[in-house]
Amino acid sequence: MKYFFATVVVILLNNCTNGQDMDMRSKKIKIDENALSSVEKVVKSEEEWRRLLTPEQYYILRQKGTERPFSGKFYKHKEKGIYVCAACGNELFSSNQKFDSGCGWPSFFDEIAKGRIKYQIDTSHGMIRTEIMCARCEGHLGHVFDDGPAPTGLRYCVNSLAIDFKKASQETKKQEEE
Ligand SMILES: [Zn+2]
Repeated sequence: MKYFFATVVVILLNNCTNGQDMDMRSKKIKIDENALSSVEKVVKSEEEWRRLLTPEQYYILRQKGTERPFSGKFYKHKEKGIYVCAACGNELFSSNQKFDSGCGWPSFFDEIAKGRIKYQIDTSHGMIRTEIMCARCEGHLGHVFDDGPAPTGLRYCVNSLAIDFKKASQETKKQEEE
């Protein structure tokens, strides 16, 4: 009997350490189910997406690819404005939520409004991560991690190829400064 308990303890300990190493699933996200369920979906066939997107965008957004770190056009981008989904134009992040994470991909600490991003567990590549997708067209954006700055503690790690940028007009800039 003693031997049996010892075995159980060893198994539990093993599971714990593995769990800590592999489980990169975010635990800080507060999902707003109501906001998500009221999103008007954009549904297109893979053929249509292929026609609309560049091959590089298609690889990221529809095939859940990842661009090389430090290669994206928005990694060091610092203009004021709004980042939208490159596939459907859904407004996803504000430049006010962007921060320099040093990870090689554009990083944000929050979505621009609740219900803009859909979250899903991703178990590929031997890790457990939280995948982020555009809630409107389900285009793959990247992943979200728990090591971001205040106030959310989140780091939305986004492929530059999955987003576009809308520059803030002079008027919006003025309003922000006031
Ligand atoms: Zn989209």
